[in-house]
Amino acid sequence: MSVVRSVLLRLEVRQAGRASKCARNKNHAIAKGQPRFVVKNHGPAQGEKGYCKRCAKLMISRAHDALDGLEADLS
Ligand SMILES: [Zn+2]
Repeated sequence: MSVVRSVLLRLEVRQAGRASKCARNKNHAIAKGQPRFVVKNHGPAQGEKGYCKRCAKLMISRAHDALDGLEADLS
């Protein structure tokens, strides 16, 4: 049986190595050691953006809705 390919290639949660700010809202601080939701850039360009837990939960919730929509389109 073949491996099921992940479609979540650009997403990771990593501990912040240093204090930083959320890419969605600069007022959202991410303390060193806190989880940081990392979204890698599209395409060949290197780079990534990091988001705080609050924004990450919102983004993941939206992604759930989008996946539900795609799944519904298949049925
Ligand atoms: Zn945020």
